[in-house]
Amino acid sequence: MAKIPHRLYLTEEQMPKQWYNLRADMKEQPDPLIHPGTHEPLPEQALYPIFCDKLAHQEMDSTTRYFDIPAPVLDMYQMYRPSPLCRAYNLEKALDTPAKIYYKFEGNNTSGSHKLNSAIAQAYYAKEQGLKGLTTETGAGQWGTALSEACAYFGLDLKVFMVKVSYEQKPYRKAVMQTFGADVTPSPSNTTEAGRAILAADPHSNGSLGCAISEAVELATKTEGYRYVLGSVLNQVLLHQSIIGLESKQAMELLDEYPDIVIGCAGGGSNLGGLIAPFMQDKLTGKADPRIIAVEPASCPSFTRGKYAYDFCDTGHVTPLARMYTLGNGFMPASNHAGGLRYHGMSPMLSKLYHDGYMEAVSAKQTDVFAAAVQFAKVETILPAPESAHAIRGAIDEALRCKESGEAKTILFGLTGTGYFDMAAYQAYHDGTMQNHIPTDAELEKGFATLPQLG
Ligand SMILES: *Cc1c(COP(=O)(O)O)cnc(C)c1O
Repeated sequence: MAKIPHRLYLTEEQMPKQWYNLRADMKEQPDPLIHPGTHEPLPEQALYPIFCDKLAHQEMDSTTRYFDIPAPVLDMYQMYRPSPLCRAYNLEKALDTPAKIYYKFEGNNTSGSHKLNSAIAQAYYAKEQGLKGLTTETGAGQWGTALSEACAYFGLDLKVFMVKVSYEQKPYRKAVMQTFGADVTPSPSNTTEAGRAILAADPHSNGSLGCAISEAVELATKTEGYRYVLGSVLNQVLLHQSIIGLESKQAMELLDEYPDIVIGCAGGGSNLGGLIAPFMQDKLTGKADPRIIAVEPASCPSFTRGKYAYDFCDTGHVTPLARMYTLGNGFMPASNHAGGLRYHGMSPMLSKLYHDGYMEAVSAKQTDVFAAAVQFAKVETILPAPESAHAIRGAIDEALRCKESGEAKTILFGLTGTGYFDMAAYQAYHDGTMQNHIPTDAELEKGFATLPQLG
């Protein structure tokens, strides 16, 4: 067989035309979203004031295995997809490992991350429903950027609440979003009730994703013709992101390959849920048994140190309750933490799979993550996002284990994006001033104390 290329692109014809819904193959379903007051499971209709109708339906549908990707969504996908499946020959050589390392690179678009895959779908369904605009939150800024692009393309207004610490540290992210026509407000702000309450409790709050979500949901539900959209965590987002895994699996099949280990970074779980979807399907249906590993930051360890409990998805308690691995909606990640992935909770779908033993999770320290990023950049010529570098760390560690054991395993990891807006963090790493904040048990207890009591 000919040598496997450094980068393999599927053709447009080979590109998947449907998203895959992993819930259809889960024997036990994630626990339902419940109403924070009555604790009753929410019907689909209860989500209509928050999400547009088709997305509310995708959120609740656990039986439809495949959803057709609408033609206008496919059209925009084809502006930057299929994304390449890369063979990390140079990294393998640098590590002197017998392992074969593949990565799926999602950073080849202006937003610089996989988030565009869901942003396009969500903006399209909103436009199709005749809505005027959307609200959302953004942390590091990738989601806000991706959604700005999608809203500009489909002709929708967009109001973004950006976590205050990122707003101040990444002024150019804001400029990019404004270029695509979005209106950007630092959160917590005094423009919403939720924001004012958070500021009253802590006037110097740096903000968090949980705070920004509260503000965005409030604005959407109070503004005619608007809905709220979220870039991670939700079932609908994992559904859209399944394009990553479907393309990966198809490309690996063309190479006559199948991964022994699939690795992804985990913030809210969307890229990981998308990457693993068809491989987890094989696991659930008994066709194959790959190891699946989530890598999360030691500073925000939802899987590895969180509780599997019902919690609010936001700090201001305007959302329904979801059962997930969580550090508590009041958990505030350290402000010196640069590496993204700062959300208190985790996708309920992945939480269920992790709880039932279908996947593993590890945590990584910030300086170890940047060491992996730098090692990777030098040989693979891509400057990774700090979030993505968690997956690189995980892949390097597994490849080094193969070196010890002499096993030639096949590793696939998700390289979710590029890090050009994260250069202050890279600089801190180079200067030796980067800190590792690992919360103490006592600090985590403070977050757990904010979990709602269900009786
Ligand atoms: C948002 C983001 C992540 C983490 O989000 P998930 O929903 O866990 O995938 C990872 N990498 C990049 C580049 C991101 O922008």
